[in-house]
Amino acid sequence: MNPTRVRFAPSPTGALHIGGVRTALYNYLLARKLNGTFILRIEDTDQTRYVPGAEAYIQEALAWCGLLPDEGPDQGGNFGPYRQSERKAIYSKYVDQLLENGWAYYAFDTSEELDAMRESEKARGNHNFKYDASVRLQLKNSLSLSASETSSLLASGQPWTVRLKVPEDETVTIHDLIRGEVVFQTRELDDKVLLKSDGMPTYHLANIVDDHLMQISHVIRGEEWLSSTGHHVLLYRAFGWEGSMPQFAHLPLILKPDGKGKLSKRDGKRLGIPVFPLSWEADNAEDSFEGFRETGFDPAAVVNFLALLGWNSGTEQEIFSMEELVGAFSLEKIGKSGARFDFDKAKWFNEQYIKSKDNASLAEILLPLAKNKSYAADKAFLEQFSELMKERVTFYQDFLETGYYFFEKVKLYDLATIKKKWKPERRAAMDQLAESIGQLPDFTHEAIKKAVEDFMEAQQLKFGDVLPILRIAVSGTMKGPAIFEMMELLGKEEIMERLAIAFAAFDETA
Ligand code: GLU
Repeated sequence: MNPTRVRFAPSPTGALHIGGVRTALYNYLLARKLNGTFILRIEDTDQTRYVPGAEAYIQEALAWCGLLPDEGPDQGGNFGPYRQSERKAIYSKYVDQLLENGWAYYAFDTSEELDAMRESEKARGNHNFKYDASVRLQLKNSLSLSASETSSLLASGQPWTVRLKVPEDETVTIHDLIRGEVVFQTRELDDKVLLKSDGMPTYHLANIVDDHLMQISHVIRGEEWLSSTGHHVLLYRAFGWEGSMPQFAHLPLILKPDGKGKLSKRDGKRLGIPVFPLSWEADNAEDSFEGFRETGFDPAAVVNFLALLGWNSGTEQEIFSMEELVGAFSLEKIGKSGARFDFDKAKWFNEQYIKSKDNASLAEILLPLAKNKSYAADKAFLEQFSELMKERVTFYQDFLETGYYFFEKVKLYDLATIKKKWKPERRAAMDQLAESIGQLPDFTHEAIKKAVEDFMEAQQLKFGDVLPILRIAVSGTMKGPAIFEMMELLGKEEIMERLAIAFAAFDETA
């Protein structure tokens, strides 16, 4: 059997959508599963849609997800170059081959002429004008013109394109690994442009030539490319490569959270959720957005979430490491119907991943985030902080946002609760409690707890009379980690200061 070689072939026309990341992931999983090769190929032949920074974004997004290509523009390999714009000479050779064997022809019609033709057809009731076998002899091309007319047009410097000569009335069948048998009638297919007037190949030509030269075994890509596959098979036929054609697997769409239509780039803004792996900074704020990374996702959670968006293992298991995904993955278990982008599920995955991380790794992740906020916190502190917080957060950012009071003074007290719990007549007693806590030789959570319990007993008070006050004095809120552990971590001096400030403030509200 031929070795498995798969490629992820994005066009650098902007940030890589999360659907693109899923395509890359499925390619990667199949490559790893079958001990194959995962290739990154940059399809940048459409100069008009080229966006600077997009290729770097793609590489960074793949690296963030742990989907490192074995071959690619940055990685190198024996089948390069891996950027199509650097392969121009290769394509022109193959175009010549098709011109010679009669599978392609020169076309001289300008886009204005074709637009005019389309309009006049529309006026006659034909809304589906196509450059195809039914009209090609009435148009300006090397099939309708004589050889000498053609050569003089070519010599005159008039712009031309090369088109595929689609057979008039044939059936093309592919066996898609996900969708089963898919049949195309060539009479429905237009004579696709293969080489544009700027000398660049179109996607169709470059894609097929490269898949062949790079010895691609499986083409795994989004469903939106299924309709092009008829043309692709014809191109394989035209080159005489049909025998070594890759197998196709067209992935189901990712649907909007409400299931109504394809998830689009705009849905992110509309719903306030990330639909890209990483942030994108555009010149105007409107085109900028936050990615999964900046929202505070762990890449392993994103990979796990994406893996299950369209594929299922056939078991109840939901949490998969990359290794487990490789083991369980198969193209046969990819569904045919669209997969709904359920952001709550993505959040759930992230919570599971954060919870299961050890404190040292969490501290490592939180260190730069804390620095960013100018919080003076070392790794030892962040490790203990992680232990206290990791069960209560959805995103990495939550640690520092919800748990800001571990790094700075309380900004806001839950005064509604304080109004119910704070009794001014107990102020003296509460000050006493603060003092006894301040005198503890070992400021451990056990010792603090003991001091509080002794105090409650002496004062005939219950937990509900004291703990909410302490909790709000220390953190501002009733929601948060275990109070005595929190006090221990913040340290005696800080706690004494907070209690003094808070009690004074509480007296004022009562
Ligand atoms: N360049 C195409 C894209 O941007 C690749 C499609 C394919 O994989 O054939 O998605």
